[in-house]
Amino acid sequence: MPELEQRLQDVYDEVTSRNRGDDVFHQAVLEVLESLGPVLERHPEYVDAGVVRRLVEPERQVVFRVPWVDDDGRVRVNRGFRVEFSSTLGPYKGGLRFHPSVDVATVKFLGFEQVLKNALTGLSIGGGKGGSDFDPKGRSDAEVMRFCQSFMTELYRHVGEHTDVPAGDQGVSTREIGYLFGQYKRITNRFEAGVLTGKGPAWGGSRIRTEATGYGLAFFVRDVLEAHDSSLDGKRVVVSGSGNVAIHAIEKVHQLGGTVVACSDSSGFVVDEDGIDLELLKQVKLERRGRIAEYAEQRDRAAMGSGSIWEVPCDVALPCATQNELDDKGAASLVENGCTVVAEGANMPTTPEAVDVLREAGVTFVPGKAANAGGVATSALEMQQNASRESWTADDVERRLETVMRDIHTACVTTAEEYGAPGDYALGANIAGFTRVADAMLAQGVV
Ligand code: NDP
Repeated sequence: MPELEQRLQDVYDEVTSRNRGDDVFHQAVLEVLESLGPVLERHPEYVDAGVVRRLVEPERQVVFRVPWVDDDGRVRVNRGFRVEFSSTLGPYKGGLRFHPSVDVATVKFLGFEQVLKNALTGLSIGGGKGGSDFDPKGRSDAEVMRFCQSFMTELYRHVGEHTDVPAGDQGVSTREIGYLFGQYKRITNRFEAGVLTGKGPAWGGSRIRTEATGYGLAFFVRDVLEAHDSSLDGKRVVVSGSGNVAIHAIEKVHQLGGTVVACSDSSGFVVDEDGIDLELLKQVKLERRGRIAEYAEQRDRAAMGSGSIWEVPCDVALPCATQNELDDKGAASLVENGCTVVAEGANMPTTPEAVDVLREAGVTFVPGKAANAGGVATSALEMQQNASRESWTADDVERRLETVMRDIHTACVTTAEEYGAPGDYALGANIAGFTRVADAMLAQGVV
């Protein structure tokens, strides 16, 4: 095995032995390491400075107990996590996920992805991620508040506007951010707006932050299609999930001329040939926190689908639910039905085997670290507004978001070309993000 390849293999072996059983983290690391050979060959100084070995080890990991009392007076105990991965480019930045599946491996994989994603935005933000195995589904507002207060009672000592700035993710929206922010403010006696992003506009939040990940994804897809002399106009689009990312992706795809004909939640998927009715979907999923079947019940031509959502014929597929939701079988169905673009709204929703199937068939694949970076980019814009005590208009923020997404698209395309792999968005994203972090790590010495 050539020396460089051996070194990358050694890094991977170290990651697997040091993080036993953390399969999703191994998967995320391997996907990046596989892209780095050409860049390390060109920059031996990165190898000498141990950049890759340092990059795959989080700077700090915090695991803590979160006790709280439910509405029946019973004591519940959950586990909280914050993995502070890299502060090379700025304060640790990344969301909190509340979902029963959350464990240290999940948080590490998300934190690692976040480092390169945040670098790609070109903004001054490091990478981190956190969350809890708490499930907000079916819990009353009062229970969610008590949980968030207990969670922040530990987390507050690790975060701060110049240290670590969490945001939302699965299961954490403006409601949860509000309870977390309130408790932070109470404990610290500081209105430190920049400590959390995803706040409500009346108390320091940025306009368009809620919409940003989904909107940014749609902008990116538009840019991909434009690069292929095409557009979203008249395209059939399938979006998995019906949460924050999915709903706002659907909204922007419709505004840009596409039609979303299917979406899902963890209980199934709905097909609506007339195009998803966004108002109804928001009522069912955001206001009532209901099941997707309620959407199908209320629309004449909509029906619950059977099998997999990836069997619904489409030109563009946007997995926006969760990790590893699109496997090789799903990818094969997409290919068979003529899909030409798959762009990840969720983090790592496409399995490595599925990526191989898409690549072999010539489908353009855009990884989440590029396609869904609009959320964290707008979080950074929220931090800027907090620091200057300004509040920008929705149009202003959306314009900046569009520019960031276009710049990320350009960085992916030009980097892939520079490294002899035109059209490979995954390689372009990994190398462009990595190079920015690596150069700063060199400048900052071995820390
Ligand atoms: P939400 O909690 O708002 O929504 C998640 C959606 O996915 C829900 O509709 C949920 O259904 C559905 N879902 C979960 N698991 C499955 C499954 N196995 N099959 C089908 N549907 C499923 O989360 P977000 O929209 O915020 O996040 C979605 C993804 O996007 C995550 O990977 C997240 O890390 C990523 N992301 C989010 C960002 C943000 O700004 N929010 C930024 C960048 C990435 P149900 O309602 O039944 O639970």
